[in-house]
Amino acid sequence: MSANATTTWSPYDQTDLTQLSWLEQQWVAWYIFIGNPILATGLMSFIMHETVYFGRAIPWIIVDAIPYFRRWKLQAAKIPTPQEQWECTKQVLYSHFMIELPLIWLFHPLAEVFGIRTYEVPLPSFKEMLLPMALFFVFEDICHYTAHQALHWGPLYKHIHKIHHKYSAPFGLAAEYAHPAEVAILGAGTIAGPLLYCYFTRDLHMFTMYVWITLRLFQAIDAHSGYDFPWSLQHIVPFWSGAEHHDFHHMAFTNNFSTSFRWCDRIFGTDDKYRAYRARLQKAKREMKNASKEQRDEMERKLMAEVEAEGIRAEAAVGQSVKTKVQ
Ligand SMILES: [Zn+2]
Ligand SMILES: [Zn+2]
Repeated sequence: MSANATTTWSPYDQTDLTQLSWLEQQWVAWYIFIGNPILATGLMSFIMHETVYFGRAIPWIIVDAIPYFRRWKLQAAKIPTPQEQWECTKQVLYSHFMIELPLIWLFHPLAEVFGIRTYEVPLPSFKEMLLPMALFFVFEDICHYTAHQALHWGPLYKHIHKIHHKYSAPFGLAAEYAHPAEVAILGAGTIAGPLLYCYFTRDLHMFTMYVWITLRLFQAIDAHSGYDFPWSLQHIVPFWSGAEHHDFHHMAFTNNFSTSFRWCDRIFGTDDKYRAYRARLQKAKREMKNASKEQRDEMERKLMAEVEAEGIRAEAAVGQSVKTKVQ
């Protein structure tokens, strides 16, 4: 149904609202309150994106401010300063308002073309969302891996992707710190999966999209957090990338191009340096079992410095280096 602001929009006349769950009632109340589905979907999408993005990034700012957590920081010597986090926030907000907001607005007409349900109830069940979301994750990962490698090609790197590589030790807020073109290119992989899925199945609700985008934002922000906890997802699900995998991409520059999973990098051999580094680190740790903590930390710092120096050389070879040393 298309919106018409001049007439009363009442798509729920045939719906028994008392039979709906609490969440479905809120969903319906929002669409009735706004009274225009394009506006309602656009506003909700933007508010959802901002709430999830900053809601997930703020805990990482707090973690960065508490020295206790440094023991799990991947590049322990590089803690982002409040000033760097503020600069990053301003840039992210700018691109959210200038680029993502107009794009989100365009999404509702696109959703209608592909037949994505928006205001309709009932909402899909958890079980119904599982298969599409698994497919979206795999599809996005392959798209991201391919596009990310392309963004490391000289001209694209120099003009677009270089901004995202400003931080060799990333932090949560930096997940979407990128050139607007990069946000659009990589964001396309997040949106194209659901659109294609709906094109073929004619069965997708916007709510599933929101859950998917929420999980995808959590994944992106956590991957940039710079922390690897013993309880981090990659220790439970071995093919999950997580921060440990992506932090290495920022540090070494030439490996680990995927987002959610380790498969693509493993299959195409773009994790060779990463795996060699992990092997060297494990070996050195075994050999230094009886050494003091300071000596082991020193050894790890040395290995990291070697990898980073190599990364800086590789980056300089691709584009003019703008790598900012975080402390
Ligand atoms: Zn990159
Ligand atoms: Zn990154």
